[in-house]
Amino acid sequence: MTKSLSSLRAQLRQAQQQIATLLEDCFGRDPLLPGSLYTLRRKCGKANCRCAQGEPHASTILTYRGEGRPQNITPTPEQIPALRQMTEEYRRVRQTRAQLVQWQRKVLVLVDEMEAARVRLGEAEFQKRRASELRKPRSPGR
Ligand SMILES: [Zn+2]
Repeated sequence: MTKSLSSLRAQLRQAQQQIATLLEDCFGRDPLLPGSLYTLRRKCGKANCRCAQGEPHASTILTYRGEGRPQNITPTPEQIPALRQMTEEYRRVRQTRAQLVQWQRKVLVLVDEMEAARVRLGEAEFQKRRASELRKPRSPGR
């Protein structure tokens, strides 16, 4: 509550520049896929398979959250690059949205603090004027 108006103004100026960057991220046109890719490593269980002794099999799984409950889908290797791009872009858009929520909270706090600081100035000004008003002699006939 003791922050000076000029430091609050500097913070608001900073937030003003931040919002331009954040919104810039929202102008994208690329398709988004709500989901994520992960690598599943497992042993297949066949006794004579190479995985029994060495490295487990690795496959890329898409966890897709588009329609109702999440589904795990095994994409073909050719599908993986496009899926990776769309799911990473989706994650980026969601992160930007979370930052926008933070930004909004921060700016509302700042704006409220600035209002309070200016009200303090206004009240001080008002008290000063009222004090000088009282010092004046009363005008006759009123
Ligand atoms: Zn195996």
